Amino acid sequence: MKTNYNLIMEEIINNLKDKPKLLLHACCGVCSSSVLERLYPFFDITVLYYNPNIYPIEEYNKRLNVQKEIIEKMNFKINLLEIGYNNEDFEKISKGLENEKEGGIRCTKCFHLRLEKTVQIAKKNHFDYFTTTLSVSPYKDSQRLNKIGEVLSKEYNVKYLYSDFKKKEGYKRSNELAKKYDLYRQHYCGCEYSLNEANEYIKETKHQNN
Ligand code: SF4
Repeated sequence: MKTNYNLIMEEIINNLKDKPKLLLHACCGVCSSSVLERLYPFFDITVLYYNPNIYPIEEYNKRLNVQKEIIEKMNFKINLLEIGYNNEDFEKISKGLENEKEGGIRCTKCFHLRLEKTVQIAKKNHFDYFTTTLSVSPYKDSQRLNKIGEVLSKEYNVKYLYSDFKKKEGYKRSNELAKKYDLYRQHYCGCEYSLNEANEYIKETKHQNN
């Protein structure tokens, strides 16, 4: 049976006594918009933009700029932490998994890579909680994501904020905010392989429609 991680998050929030420090890994500005709106009243948030999976670097920078844009446009007092483009981190973990379909084991490793960096930085800088915006996407398996978060939480002894941000229409809200603030939206998940997969799909669809 699937765990309702949104309910778990709501329970955590209901039991908060103050505004804890949260290190929120953000995959992109669009996804983070509804998540920030939701968490901002309850946490002292720092956004971590660590996405070595994104290819090419121009796309990485584009998404980083959207991340800055949304924080500014939504008028949030939030720090943004960016630690540079480390595509080799992703290359290491995806070696041999180039032909995996989106959603497969390469993605599990990609989630783990980004969450582990998040918990390491959270630990070093005395954050109370860490989590990621990734579960806002209907293409991301929140069961898998939360299990990775749980394991890392025990390993590093930092509290993990369980979440399933797509619940309560989180994904729909992200789309609305992207429209409202006129944000750039990418057509692929992030890595070189997902870019190829998305382009193939577009080509096939065009071919079928001709
Ligand atoms: S498809 Fe997305 S989640 Fe999967 S490996 Fe590529 S960038 Fe990471």
